[in-house]
Amino acid sequence: MDAARVKDLARELGADLVGIAGADVLNAYPPDPKWPQTPERISPHVKSVVVIVKRIPVGAFRCKTTVPVQYMDMLVLRRMDRIAYRLAERLEQAGHPSFVTAAQETDWSYKKASYGRLSTRHLGIEAGLGTFGLEVNILTPEFGPRLYLTGILTEAELEADGPMTEQVCIGESCSRCLMSCPPDAVGHFDIDKRACATEAQEFGFHTILGFWRDFIAKPAEDRRELLKDREIFGFWQGLLRVVGSFGDCPRCLAVCPVGNDYHAHLAKMQKVIPETTPEKKDKAAGFKLARAEGADIDGLNDWNIRWVGPDGYQGIVARQLQDFKKRQKEREAEAEEA
Ligand code: SF4
Ligand code: SF4
Repeated sequence: MDAARVKDLARELGADLVGIAGADVLNAYPPDPKWPQTPERISPHVKSVVVIVKRIPVGAFRCKTTVPVQYMDMLVLRRMDRIAYRLAERLEQAGHPSFVTAAQETDWSYKKASYGRLSTRHLGIEAGLGTFGLEVNILTPEFGPRLYLTGILTEAELEADGPMTEQVCIGESCSRCLMSCPPDAVGHFDIDKRACATEAQEFGFHTILGFWRDFIAKPAEDRRELLKDREIFGFWQGLLRVVGSFGDCPRCLAVCPVGNDYHAHLAKMQKVIPETTPEKKDKAAGFKLARAEGADIDGLNDWNIRWVGPDGYQGIVARQLQDFKKRQKEREAEAEEA
């Protein structure tokens, strides 16, 4: 099975996007060399990683509450896992041992935060599917950051796609993700994971741990009261439907103007960002100035620039928007004729 056939198969199975990264490249460029999230730490036999994307349906970002997107996240992940499993199965049937790791997992020995055995964002970038946004999500030209992705690790030697060199993210002059972020966690191609978790993992592991730590320390009477706490219900929902335990906050995804799904269904309703503050505006201006002056920026250092796009932003979103408008006019003309 060659790379083209594997990609066709992934699309037939339901992947929205697919790319291939070589295990040698992933082993040579771990996201953080001190904590290598590499295929070789999982299996020395892996030669290629097939990366598939499932987009999050845009309707979920048009709601008054964040609950629909939380539930859609889980459905998207389930569907994506099925596609990945079936692709691994087909690769094995063709004679290439293959497997899938969990798309959302944490290796507890890594930095005591949500770092998996592999970083799916980096897999996607190495497979040529997109580049980092200012908030270090992967941005694909097709769907911006509104997606999930996973990797099928295979012993098949497949022709790899190189990373994009053009920066997909508009960058500092946009900073819409920064403006929208409730806990102001967005850095300069960087993120404060703990701050983000206060919104994105409302009922995540650390909240559960903190709750039970307090609970144990309380007198019996207070404990009885605590059992009626909203948090207990939140934990139950998290276990039952994964709602609340991750991906709780969709704000930086909803406002990112990259992707045709944004132009078609989000641009109008997400134009104004109510979370904008003068302090955030100052922060974005500082980022813009630092980049213009060529200051040392950790997120753009010699190691990280590979995933941001070393050629810088060259107008991909503007080109995309022009093309979108042109096609929209054509569709309207066709509809009138009909
Ligand atoms: S909102 Fe703007 S700055 Fe943030 S990731 Fe998207 S394009 Fe980049
Ligand atoms: S998910 Fe929410 S809290 Fe986290 S960076 Fe995005 S906007 Fe901020």
